Amino acid sequence: MRSLSVLILEDNAFQLMALHQMLNANQVFNVLTAGSVEAAKQSLTNRGSVDIAICDLQMDGPDGLELIRHLAVTRQARALIILSSNERSVLDGAAHLAREQGIWVLGSLQKPASAMALRELLEGYRACVQCADEPSSPVTVALRLSQEDVRPFAPGQGVGETAPLEQWIAHYQPKVSLDGALLGVEALVRWQHPRHGLLAPGSFIEAVECAGFIEPLTWHMLALALTLSSRVQHEQGEPLPVAVNIAPSMIEQEDFAPQVLALLARFGLPASVLTLEVVESSALQVSTVQLEALLRLRMQGCQLSIDDFGTGASNIQRLLQLPFSELKIPAEFVRCMAVDGRKSAVVAGALIMARKMALNVVVEGVETLSDYRAVQALGQPTVQGYHIARPMAEEDLLQWIDQRKSAGLRSTHALADR
Ligand code: C2E
Ligand code: MG
Ligand code: MG
Repeated sequence: MRSLSVLILEDNAFQLMALHQMLNANQVFNVLTAGSVEAAKQSLTNRGSVDIAICDLQMDGPDGLELIRHLAVTRQARALIILSSNERSVLDGAAHLAREQGIWVLGSLQKPASAMALRELLEGYRACVQCADEPSSPVTVALRLSQEDVRPFAPGQGVGETAPLEQWIAHYQPKVSLDGALLGVEALVRWQHPRHGLLAPGSFIEAVECAGFIEPLTWHMLALALTLSSRVQHEQGEPLPVAVNIAPSMIEQEDFAPQVLALLARFGLPASVLTLEVVESSALQVSTVQLEALLRLRMQGCQLSIDDFGTGASNIQRLLQLPFSELKIPAEFVRCMAVDGRKSAVVAGALIMARKMALNVVVEGVETLSDYRAVQALGQPTVQGYHIARPMAEEDLLQWIDQRKSAGLRSTHALADR
């Protein structure tokens, strides 16, 4: 693969040098450096476009946001990495702003940038670009397949049989009640890349959406999750409830709801085993026909969850428009909740609202015992997070379930302390 070209905008000479060295260590030798926005613009004009711009936000004079606006207009960088010593909320805000302007944001680095984090972002870029450039890659091949080629999957049919999709695998993260009972799992896509290893969705889901591949990917994930559910039903007598992430563009399709019901019927599973988690990054336009279809899904027993509630477009207005049965409180509100009164106020408020609206609540990203205890103090939501278990492959999950059963474990403390 050709080597990458990268522009670094950074006004601190030491940080600039450190980043330059980290890039070299990652086999990136085509590096443009600039200590000001003006110099960065000049450099791009003189030397041409780059693959990635690493953009520091804060600087004297015109700041990094100015360069982001420039890149949005000129398209002189294929992707962007945001760099800042500001709080995470500022980095997230800048990333959101860039995405709104149509820029592919690889991620953000908090200063001092870690070599490992930079490497992961570069690998994510390489994997995505390679997949777009190589004619035989999963994304491009799958794009050429008709929908009938990639769906539906009958229960007995190995989902891996469709060659281009076999690299997309599901990892499953348990959701438990506060007394430790397993309530279901969330299916999270992973890309088992032949060269780059196992990739998390943060490094490719945006590119997958841009490439128009989200639809076959979603049907694939639904089929994987329902395969697991029916496997558990077969082995243990009860189907395992599964949740699958659904991009808003899927819901906008008129035949989405009937297709989901048809898939459930093909697996011989009741609709109540399936939760559709709507991941909202952009506004969702729902017609009355689609709303009717979603209501029909709900009436059949399928759960509809608003993911990352309170972030992006997953807001209260959306909650009132669609027939949601669950809201998921994202990790950013939960992380360090034990020591941050504002965060616990947000979570407590969401719980009160949800209770009054008869919604189930899942608190995500419960990573530590102290955050777990802080959640526990607020009521009885469902919890999901590293404190309980990390996302894992199907066989590991089944082993995890078996081990808990044989140990008679119900307490989440006991789980996490093991
Ligand atoms: P999400 O649906 O909100 O999923 C939760 C994310 O939080 C997962 O990241 C999970 O691994 C991570 N997580 C869970 N517990 C903890 C914790 O205690 N601490 C921390 N730091 N993180 C935790 P993952 O798997 O990287 O997925 C990221 C996002 O990618 C998902 O967020 C979802 O929006 C999207 N995604 C994942 N799979 C799919 C998919 O099949 N289709 C679509 N459209 N989006 C997907
Ligand atoms: Mg989710
Ligand atoms: Mg979430």
